[in-house]
Amino acid sequence: MILNRASNLRFDDPSERGLNNLSSMFIPIWRDKNLFLNGNIPQAVMLKGEEGQWLVENATQIVFLGVKEGTMFFCADISHLEKVDATPLPAKTVFEDLRSIATSIEPEEAGYLAYARALAYWNRTHLYCGRCGSPTESKKSGHERHCTSKSCECIHFPRTDPAVIMLVTHPSEDKCLLGHNKRFKGLRFSTIAGFVEPGESLEHAVVREVKEETGIDVSDITYKASQPWPFPASIMLGFRARGTTTKITCIDEELIEARWFPREEVREMAENQDILPPSRYSISRWLIDSWLNEKINTPVVNVKFRR
Ligand SMILES: [Zn+2]
Repeated sequence: MILNRASNLRFDDPSERGLNNLSSMFIPIWRDKNLFLNGNIPQAVMLKGEEGQWLVENATQIVFLGVKEGTMFFCADISHLEKVDATPLPAKTVFEDLRSIATSIEPEEAGYLAYARALAYWNRTHLYCGRCGSPTESKKSGHERHCTSKSCECIHFPRTDPAVIMLVTHPSEDKCLLGHNKRFKGLRFSTIAGFVEPGESLEHAVVREVKEETGIDVSDITYKASQPWPFPASIMLGFRARGTTTKITCIDEELIEARWFPREEVREMAENQDILPPSRYSISRWLIDSWLNEKINTPVVNVKFRR
């Protein structure tokens, strides 16, 4: 059962929100980090009871996240505290950056943590109105910020920046296009990705990003799936596309190398670990695995570009 975001329960008055209910669950955020049990396998820590109430008393921002099986979920931002080791947080817990963990834990749990982190970040970075510079105040249980200037009254909403990520297949051979970004740790190859620009359709963003990063032209663009990526505020929109050219030219400084990988090599990549595939729960890995699991069809011959 997924979290019901229950927007009808986003009240302006904090006392209406079930904040002081000892069974309410709180996701603590400290300087964009989430709380985990300190161990080899990351396990998220959410607090209720007295520990939850300590968060309510000490947080600078509480956001109502939703309801699951009768329990209300909140995030509590305690980023203003200099240190967190002297707090009554449970022993053997540590604040870690979700960005490096998100794709190795269960997607549902990662979703809760990402939602909490994103709302805490947005509130903390929108304390002033972007239009007139006056202070803003939190409304709708942390889902809106209203400008306090009577001559402005601008309402600010959390933003999400769309990014496209695509698995591009070869025009005539059983291969896909993967790239190595300079920010990747180890020799990791992943699908091509980039931000959607203002005034641009998603399909145009796919064409432009693949061309800019690899020099390859694509067609037959189809949407597949999405993954929230709130680091700080993105959503990854996953596509499939087919290359119509084959010569790779890495112009973009971000992408150091791109290659056409035969299906078998991609399959071995996941098993041998010499060249690393994207992390387990990433949409990039999902796009790659979906392609690997497809029945191999007769390679498509691109008539248009044949001589
Ligand atoms: Zn304003």
